[in-house]
Amino acid sequence: MSEETSATRSNFITDIIDEHHENGRFDHVHTRFPPEPNGYLHIGHAKSICLNFGVAQANSGLTNLRFDDTNPTKEEVEYVESIQEDIRWLGFDWDDRLYFASDYFDALYDFAVELIKKGKAYVCDLSAEELREYRGTLTEPGKNSPYRDRTVEENLDLFARMKAGEFPDGSKTLRAKIDMSSPNMNLRDPVLYRILHAEHHRTGNDWCIYPMYDYAHALSDSLENITHSICTLEFEDHRPLYDWVLDELDVWHSQQIEFARLNLTYTVMSKRKLLQLVKEGYVSGWNDPRMPTISGMRRRGYTPEAIRTFADTIGVSKANSIVDVELLEHVLRDDLNERSRRVMAVLEPLKVIIDNYPEDQEETFDVPYFPWDRDNSPTRAVPFSREIYIERSDFMEDPPKKFYRLAPGVEVRLMNAYYITCTDVVKDDAGNVTELHCSYDPESKGGMSPDGRKVRGTIHWVSARHAIDGELRLYDYLFSKADPYDVPEGGTFTDNLNPESLQVLKDAKLEPSLADAAAFEPFQFMRQGYFCVDFEDSVPGALVFNRTISLVDTWAKLQKERK
Ligand code: ATP
Ligand code: MG
Repeated sequence: MSEETSATRSNFITDIIDEHHENGRFDHVHTRFPPEPNGYLHIGHAKSICLNFGVAQANSGLTNLRFDDTNPTKEEVEYVESIQEDIRWLGFDWDDRLYFASDYFDALYDFAVELIKKGKAYVCDLSAEELREYRGTLTEPGKNSPYRDRTVEENLDLFARMKAGEFPDGSKTLRAKIDMSSPNMNLRDPVLYRILHAEHHRTGNDWCIYPMYDYAHALSDSLENITHSICTLEFEDHRPLYDWVLDELDVWHSQQIEFARLNLTYTVMSKRKLLQLVKEGYVSGWNDPRMPTISGMRRRGYTPEAIRTFADTIGVSKANSIVDVELLEHVLRDDLNERSRRVMAVLEPLKVIIDNYPEDQEETFDVPYFPWDRDNSPTRAVPFSREIYIERSDFMEDPPKKFYRLAPGVEVRLMNAYYITCTDVVKDDAGNVTELHCSYDPESKGGMSPDGRKVRGTIHWVSARHAIDGELRLYDYLFSKADPYDVPEGGTFTDNLNPESLQVLKDAKLEPSLADAAAFEPFQFMRQGYFCVDFEDSVPGALVFNRTISLVDTWAKLQKERK
């Protein structure tokens, strides 16, 4: 894998940073990742994390983790913890620079008092509805609030009393005094503080006024001496307000830079929608392996390297777009292909009895985990005996022409073991195949041709006597439409949930070495895909495996076809 990251590769953000170096605006890089603790992180956040930490690393700079916890009603400690775990797992470290916007509540209050004293902020008694009316529209200017010309003394007094809890929720706001006729709606005397008698996860009931996002964010960046405050595109129109706050207060001025957020096909990325999926039981939790959350992807078997490579591959841009989820899967397969041990597991077993193999005989084959590097690969012992399981789909009684697997009278290779020929088919009363009888060629040991004769098919297998049982979970996209929000009028995105996104196989037979499979260890079950132990639901003796991804790389195939 290349050491180059999207942060070192040049893009419009690295250009801006270079420009700042040259014109002396900043001589270093200090970024922050500012999640609101109101949900688990998802793959979109991963893009932002890789960018913020990556850009800083590439410039020998620093990155802070700051919880943007200015909204007391929606935030929970569970999220604060999961977010830290996820960022660490992705491979990034904020050292001792863990901050909370709520730590700045005192400072933010003092800054607001300063704005009032400068005549740049006022207490307004308009209700939420009146505020909307006075604000105007994109085509019409707004109207000045009747409270706009309150004296500094009156504003100071009222703001102090807002803080002291004298007024009910929604009865007053503190607003910036900017320009009610500005073409930028964000500059039409935006609200800086609102009254909200609500308990906060860190400050308890100390506060009943809470700062608004734009105000709190600009000043938090400033207090931390952030150089480049990277955020998503929808904040572009907010940048003039961000700059206004910092200019009026004459404090450290971070540069806000916007980039396009990540959107993926077949995926919803809104925390509110993800929360709904969890709350309404459509998934088993935030870390359901079908969720686009970092914790879901980790449980599914994604590696941090794959996610980081994906972030590098998509890069950053100024234009919103939708990335094909198959690109993410392609990057994942590439990564797993290199690091996964090859093992044998039968998903849907069919018993095969090898009649000419002695009943009490057993042998083991020493098979490399990484067959393309036999000389250096660790190996494990794979036991063989008279009764084995093969994949039900690897046998057809009446096969079409190009079916190169097992059929009556046909010889195939058992991977790393022997050539076998099907001699008899046993069925139940309903006509279903229940087991096969075969003969083997003792001269074909190791799956080698004894006399130059060739077989068309090679299939995987597991010795029946030695197999361990396992539950396998196979996943498909959570939504059946590339755009989950594409619904007829009156519908909702949950109408597009894919009823077949989870398939559970309870009778799988696994080679015995898998009894020791550890969490986070990637395997390729040969011919069936990449799997890992589900660390939530596995118990010793009853392992559950998640299929991380199948082997078919539709992305690579499409690229080839396009060429
Ligand atoms: P919401 O505002 O709905 O709560 P958010 O997606 O803005 O959600 P935050 O917790 O505020 O969530 O996000 C933290 C950081 O991650 C922000 O800087 C945000 O810009 C970035 N981010 C969030 N979603 C994406 C995405 N899909 N692609 C890239 N960056 C994202
Ligand atoms: Mg946000």
